[in-house]
Amino acid sequence: MHIATFSGRTRLFAPALSVLLSLIAASPNAQSSTWLDEYRDAASKLIAESQSGRFAWERLALLGDTFGHRLSGSDALANAITWAVDEMKKDGLENVRAEPVKVPHWVRGQESLEITSPHRSALTMLGLGNSVGTSPDGIEADLVVVRTFAELDAAGAGVRGALRYADGVPQIPSAAITTEDADRLQRMQNRGTKVRLRVKMEAKFLPDADSANVVGEIRGRERPDEIVVVSGHFDSWDVGTGSTDDGGGCVVTWEALRLLKQLNLRPRRTVRVVLFTNEENGLAGGRAYLERYRAALADHVMMLESDSGVYRPTGFGFAGSATARATVQQIATLLRGIQADQIGPSGGGADIGPSVEAGQVPAMSLEVEGNYFLIHHTPADTVDKIDPADMAKASAAIAVMAYVIADMPERLR
Ligand SMILES: [Zn+2]
Repeated sequence: MHIATFSGRTRLFAPALSVLLSLIAASPNAQSSTWLDEYRDAASKLIAESQSGRFAWERLALLGDTFGHRLSGSDALANAITWAVDEMKKDGLENVRAEPVKVPHWVRGQESLEITSPHRSALTMLGLGNSVGTSPDGIEADLVVVRTFAELDAAGAGVRGALRYADGVPQIPSAAITTEDADRLQRMQNRGTKVRLRVKMEAKFLPDADSANVVGEIRGRERPDEIVVVSGHFDSWDVGTGSTDDGGGCVVTWEALRLLKQLNLRPRRTVRVVLFTNEENGLAGGRAYLERYRAALADHVMMLESDSGVYRPTGFGFAGSATARATVQQIATLLRGIQADQIGPSGGGADIGPSVEAGQVPAMSLEVEGNYFLIHHTPADTVDKIDPADMAKASAAIAVMAYVIADMPERLR
């Protein structure tokens, strides 16, 4: 009899128990799932909309194919900025504008490197950004191969310079060579071969140029002055097309707003996309944003930057209070379906850095599975390295995170 009674009670309570268990499985605590439930439908729709085509990838391909690289001060960057403003307006974003920023204008010019002795042989080189140039005849000198700064110091005063142009030291031209050529020169030195090299570089700075941060918004329906920023940097180095660094970051953050617009999702607070100028060789765009919005930083709820490439997203880095982190972790559970629900120990970005620091604004970065340092700042940084499906997921992840933070009743703190 006892056994039978026990079975009966089990059957009676089993449904209630399973509901309770599923609530616990869905969220760290049952209460959190209640407020998140309101956003499950929107999150699913944003993810589905992002994956309905390859809009983000096509836009990134168009950007790179049309304008090429976007070095600060170049006509390409200026024209791409004009294009982005027009496109954001066509997307239906609000308050679209180009906010003027003066940027450094470094130009590479022609450059070459060759072995002149023991036998003439051309090498592949790339002058480092912001480097000074050489005289028109170039510099011819003996080769010294060093592998570390310690070895450079040990090589003596004859090879000393400053690679970072500190005040009061001579500015020397700086360039990178391929690992293949570096190995070749190392072997020649190891054999005791006396090698002479000639380098010519026309690199120089022109007067500062006019540029701009591009801004577009979905205005908040209740608290429009409270701002959630998503961003990337629109400038690039002058090799490749800057598709990974950081055209992709610009397009996926921009795409997050386009997806909200497409689905008619207008959050309580404003979501703003910023395409910063001049991250690569000056950070003028990030500093200009701080100066323009210093008084409004207290109303910046969160700032996110995507500048680690747009490979498969794994989630976000986050920097802010423990309470805010817990909330962000709950929101990220909405991204489990696309495996983008991890929240890392730190977050931020170069362009949002000045504002985040000055305003103590919670900061996030898109985290991805992939290493863009393998191709960024090289001719290989082109759109063919990027998977349209990865960009769609990255766009959706940013859209869901930004939307919920902008819409939830309580401000992220
Ligand atoms: Zn970058």
